[in-house]
Formats: sequence, structure tokens, C-alpha cells
Amino acid sequence: MQTNLANFIKDTPEGLEADSILRTCVHCGFCLATCPTYQLLGDELDSPRGRIYLIKQMLEGAPVTAKTQLHLDRCLTCRACESTCPSGVKYGHLVDIGRAIVEKKIGRKPMQALQRFGIRRVLPQSTIFGSLLKLGQTLRPLLPGQIQGAVPPVKQQTAWPASQHARTMLVLDGCVQPSLEPNINGATARLLDKLGINLVRAEKAGCCGAVSYHLNAQDEGLDYMRRNIDAWLPYLDQGAEAIVMTASGCGVTVKEYGYLLRNDPMYAEKAERISAATKDISEIILVEKDCLADLLNAKNTGRKTPKEKIAFHSPCTLQHGQKITGVIEALLTAAGFELTPTPEKHLCCGSAGTYSILQKELSQQLLKNKVNALESGEPKIIATANIGCLMHLQSGTQTPVKHWVEIVDELLA
Ligand code: SF4
Ligand code: SF4
Repeated sequence: MQTNLANFIKDTPEGLEADSILRTCVHCGFCLATCPTYQLLGDELDSPRGRIYLIKQMLEGAPVTAKTQLHLDRCLTCRACESTCPSGVKYGHLVDIGRAIVEKKIGRKPMQALQRFGIRRVLPQSTIFGSLLKLGQTLRPLLPGQIQGAVPPVKQQTAWPASQHARTMLVLDGCVQPSLEPNINGATARLLDKLGINLVRAEKAGCCGAVSYHLNAQDEGLDYMRRNIDAWLPYLDQGAEAIVMTASGCGVTVKEYGYLLRNDPMYAEKAERISAATKDISEIILVEKDCLADLLNAKNTGRKTPKEKIAFHSPCTLQHGQKITGVIEALLTAAGFELTPTPEKHLCCGSAGTYSILQKELSQQLLKNKVNALESGEPKIIATANIGCLMHLQSGTQTPVKHWVEIVDELLA
């Protein structure tokens, strides 16, 4: 794609990055077929190619309007278009640049700005989020029916193994996961313990930075990232083998720290090191799969292998963001489960970070379609790999939704 960027952006790092991305797009339109918002709305401006044109026009000096903002806001940043694109267009990076410029040029209406500010103050702060959640859970019986349904039930923290091994890995606690689903990291610690690995948490680490970064508070997001880098590096220096991610939404962000901090002379190199050490839990288990198979075989001695039907929802941040496909499905099948087929599994469930709060209507349509697709094979359980997807899917179905690690942990208990 030919470009002629305007003076305000052309020699900046963002301008150069956007220019090189725009030049890779050949307008073929293959990406339209897999874009969830284009499927729902049928408007080219709600497709990847349409949004790329909007960003290009804006970077070339065209006026930025509320309409530009609307179409960029409606994008889920699911990156299904990246998986489909034959030219390797890095759409996710481009849309981040585009959104930041829109925000600078036209800002937000006061209510929208307040809502976004509130999200940034609550979600990334695990203590504030945890306290508010506890308050909501305590008052739940007194709340009106509709609000009651929005408050998730109390989940108990489960035992973290105390044994010591020669091998150690770090885990990111994350911001909302410890309050909403405290069993996920406990299950991960127990599973790794059985494989001879200690799982430890770095006290000073916190939110991965994705919430602020994707809400156009990029500097705030980068500060969260620097804080995590400072918290984790001493552990890597002492021999921790990896930084384990149990939420693929955080994993995709931490794997990009090197890219996101590439222009920071103090942190660029450190960030690269952190990204290189970061692994989704499925990548760790894949390497240890023979050991896991032995554990499962030992456990199944003398009784029938379980054959429960499971549907697996692969989060966009796993399949499109981290390009991890088929790994968890294979692990669950090897563990003896029957995986039910899910039509259109490349499509987003509508959770997409804060999308379920900011774009409620579209998010609910995507949820309904996703639950129908997942339940078409009549599974007993829905498994997934990201806290956002887990909570969002559970809000739309009576079928239990669990992190896949919890399911494997239960098998080995
Ligand atoms: S598939 Fe890739 S190259 Fe084709 S229009 Fe979409 S982004 Fe551009
Ligand atoms: S990131 Fe997802 S919603 Fe956004 S343009 Fe690409 S496919 Fe469509």
C-alpha cells in the first residue's frame, strides 16, 4: 500500500512503524472473512481492511472524527485478521498506533472518559478489585436480580504445595484472576510440583499492563511493564527457568514487552530477556508431556480412563496472539477426554479485555454465538486458557467453564 504520511507523524517512531506495516497490506481482503465485527455488522469500516484505510487516511492528515473512533473502538483486537493475512500485516500494532492518535486528536466524551478512567483505577489493582469484589459478594443477597447475576460467587484459595525442587519457575498472579478464580494458579503449582518444578510468585509483580495500554494510557501501561521487569529479573538471575502465564491475555502482552519497550534505552534489553523467558503454561506442559503421561497412567491404574466430553475454547490471545494452536486440545485428548468439535473456533467470544464492558451489545452477540458453537457437541465441561474468556463464557451458560489446568489437576488429585 502506497503511503504519504503527514508531517505530524512521519518521522516519529510510531509513524515509521505504521508506515512499514501499511506498506505490507496488499488490499486483498482475505481478512474480512475471519473478522468477527465484519461478520456481525457487514460494514467494510468494521473490517480489518476498512480500519487499515481509516488509520492510513488519518496518518496522511485526513480529519479525525467520532466515526473513525467508533470503528476503531469496535475492533476487538482479537487479531484473527493476522492469522488469516497472507502478507503478514501486523494489524495489532497498527491499531494501537491508530487508537492513540485518535485519542490525542479528539479525546473522549466525559462519561466515556470517566468509565475508562474507572476501569484503569480498579481492574489492574488486585487489592482494590479484590476488596470491591468481596463487598459485592457480601451484599449479593440484597442486590436486585440483574446485578446479583453479575457478581461472581466466592471461590476459595486452594493449597499451594510446600515441597522444594531443584527447578524453579515464576508465575504471574495477575490482577483479577487471584480474586475471581484463585484455584487456577494453585492448580498450576500442584501440577508443576508433580513434575518436579517449584512455582513461585514475585511479590512486587502485578498487572501485565495490558488494561491501561489498550485503553490508550500507554505510558501507564509501560510503567506496569517496567515494574514487572524489575520484580522478575532477580529471579531469572538466580536461575528461574521461565515466567509462566496462566492467562493467555497476560501472556501475549508479556511476550511483547521487548517490542513495546524497544525505544526505552534503560529497559529495551531487559524487556527482551523477560519476553524470551515467558511461556504459556501449555508450552511448559508440552515439554513435560511424557512425564505428565506417566503421572496420568499411574493415576488411571485399576480404573477406567475418564471419557468426559469437553469443548475447548481457544482464546484469541492464545491462537492468534501467541500462535499456540492444537497444543491444549492434544493434551486434553491424551489425558483421556473426548474433545467435542467447535464450529468457527477462530472467532472471539466477545470478552476481549475490557470490550465486554465498553461494547456490551456486540460482546453479548459474540458470546451467544460462541456458547452455541461450544455447546453444539453437548460437552459436560467447557475448558479455556484465559480468565477473561472464562468469566465471560460462564456468564452465558450453565455448563461449567474451567481453566484446562484445573481439569488436569483434578485428574491427578
Ligand atoms: S488480508 Fe492482509 S494484506 Fe489482505 S487486506 Fe487484509 S490486512 Fe491487507
Ligand atoms: S483484530 Fe479482530 S475485530 Fe479487529 S479487525 Fe482484526 S479480526 Fe476484526
